[in-house]
Amino acid sequence: MQIEKNKVVTFHYRVNEAGRETLEDSREGDPLVYLHGYDSMIPGVEEALTGKQAGDHLDVTVPPEKGYGPRNDNAVQRISKSHVLHAPRGTKFLPGMMVQVNTPNGPRSVIVFKVGMTTLDVDANHPLAGRTLEFSIDVVDVRDATEEEITHGHAHGVGGHEH
Ligand code: ZN
Repeated sequence: MQIEKNKVVTFHYRVNEAGRETLEDSREGDPLVYLHGYDSMIPGVEEALTGKQAGDHLDVTVPPEKGYGPRNDNAVQRISKSHVLHAPRGTKFLPGMMVQVNTPNGPRSVIVFKVGMTTLDVDANHPLAGRTLEFSIDVVDVRDATEEEITHGHAHGVGGHEH
């Protein structure tokens, strides 16, 4: 069975930045499960998986524009420490730390890169924005999606969406 729209795909992957060490390896846990054709994967990975089947191995190089997008310099902002969520008074902030802040689009994680007296300079870019990524993928399973999964626009079950 080939991967196309409305198939539920299970796969293992390893990802690293070109020439660097592994960032994530799904074999440390459950494989990833998703509904193909609903933009739930980064485009470079979804495109590469189209037409593949269970047992196939793929090595894919994904440029930023087909991955997590280019870095946006406007995403760097100075915020008040008091606006950080889940950070009680006295929390010690350090560069590199990931903190949660409220945005007009809801809470999101940002990376602290500079700590001031009362402010933090944070970077709201995805940590992998602007990076070229190398994925090593093994397709584990391909099946037809259920009507319910197609209605919801996501896969259900182990590794998929739980309700
Ligand atoms: Zn659902």
